[in-house]
Amino acid sequence: MSCQKKILFLFGTRPEALKLAPVIRAFQDEIKLEVRICVTAQHRELLDQALLSFRIKSDFDLNLMLPDQSLPGLISRIVAAAGEVLDRERPDLVIVQGDTASALGGALAASLCKIPIAHVEAGLRSFRRGSPFPEEINRVLISRLADLHFAPSESAAENLRREGITGGIFVVGNPIVDSLKNVLRDLKGREDEPRRAELQAWAGGRRIVLLTLHRRESFGDAMTNICRAIREIAMGAEDMEFFFPVHPNGRVRDTIREQLSDIKNVRLLDPLAYEDFVWLLSRATLVISDSGGVLEEAVTMGVPILVVREITERVDAIRAGHAQIAGVSVAQIVAEARTLLQTLTNSNPLRRTLRETFGDGKTSARIVMRTKEFLCGGSGAAVAKVTPQFTQ
Ligand code: UDP
Repeated sequence: MSCQKKILFLFGTRPEALKLAPVIRAFQDEIKLEVRICVTAQHRELLDQALLSFRIKSDFDLNLMLPDQSLPGLISRIVAAAGEVLDRERPDLVIVQGDTASALGGALAASLCKIPIAHVEAGLRSFRRGSPFPEEINRVLISRLADLHFAPSESAAENLRREGITGGIFVVGNPIVDSLKNVLRDLKGREDEPRRAELQAWAGGRRIVLLTLHRRESFGDAMTNICRAIREIAMGAEDMEFFFPVHPNGRVRDTIREQLSDIKNVRLLDPLAYEDFVWLLSRATLVISDSGGVLEEAVTMGVPILVVREITERVDAIRAGHAQIAGVSVAQIVAEARTLLQTLTNSNPLRRTLRETFGDGKTSARIVMRTKEFLCGGSGAAVAKVTPQFTQ
């Protein structure tokens, strides 16, 4: 069966690039499919760093990032600029990922150009419009527009069904596990490259605590509290090194510097290349983070993680005891971190089996098969036919 189709990926941030990288590669390996990549560059620096890690080149760069960009302004610029590209290119399908302004703007532009949409990581819900903000709003709206819903887990698929979506839902796992597996494989035997050797030397054999913080919903008091908690934990733990790759957002950076730049065993770093971040994560005793992607990676690698948010949409990981919600109060974060640190030692998941909570590394293959069925008819290969049982 001949099926010449054009697929266009549209995204703009680091987590989207990291999760779509293996999916893009899997589509590029299909000779009958033409693949185009359009980036909004909603986050210029972090996006470019992620694209470089996976050697992915964009075909269209909308370069839309502005200092202090407002959400309405950003979304309207994405819709307008993406709309022009889509009108010119006329792809058969647009693929967006997750819950960013780029994903929503891309989906809106595609639907207004009457182009079908596939949504990767569909169906995550916190059921609170203000948390995470604006991601929960973006997710719900993208689901109204999409034709194919690639759910990471059965509970995400069930969320979509409860919203009245009946067709095009497929449980495929989360492609972050594909990315993680690829990087872990590449890291074997290359653990002592310069940046990693430097991180290793700083740790000096001590236990490693890895920190990340970036969410808009944490801006203000919550972020100050989390940083004060980290300050307290680190000051009583000279036998540990705290590595903190700082998100370049001005509000995040200023709060972190203000609270933590004078603590000897807290290292404030520029954002790390994905492979270096994964390497550090693989060595960590504990992670403290508000990031969804980092939670998925830590749980997959079996590294304990304290989630510094009030809620997470990755509920099953919490229920299974693979991650712990610590909220945003200083006392609770300090108490939970100290309890964990009393017993934990440094990990080395490079030498261990990965957990398959979020996926088995075959998500990209499933997405390709289901997309081919949608665009070209016929039935996919066996890998797409088995419905996996991932939690979230
Ligand atoms: N990450 C990275 N370098 C860093 C910090 C994080 O490559 O210095 C990766 C991390 O592995 C994860 C992703 O960035 O896959 C998470 O991005 P972010 O926290 O910005 O967004 P979220 O996952 O919360 O949407």
